[in-house]
Amino acid sequence: MKKKSFRSKRTDTKRIFPERKKVCFFCANKLTVDYKDVEHIRDYITRSGKILPRRITKLCAKHQRALTRAIKRARIMALLPFVKTLR
Ligand SMILES: [Zn+2]
Repeated sequence: MKKKSFRSKRTDTKRIFPERKKVCFFCANKLTVDYKDVEHIRDYITRSGKILPRRITKLCAKHQRALTRAIKRARIMALLPFVKTLR
C-alpha cells in the first residue's frame, strides 16, 4: 500500500493573519454608542480604566470617536472610573 508522506505543512498562517469578519461591533450590530450603556462600554476600557486604542477595539473611526466621548461622559456621570488602582 502506498502511503502518502506529508511534509509538515505550515497551517498556522491564520495565527499570523487572523481572519477579520466583522469590522466594527457597533456597525455590525447596528447599535449606537450610548454613555448610559455601561455594560457595552465597559468592554472598551482596561482594568485600570484607560480607553483601549482602535487597533485593539477594532472599531471604525466613527464609533471609536463616539465611544471615547461616551466613556468620558460616563466618567463624569460616575458610571465609569477615571482611574482604578490595581492591588
Ligand atoms: Zn462602526
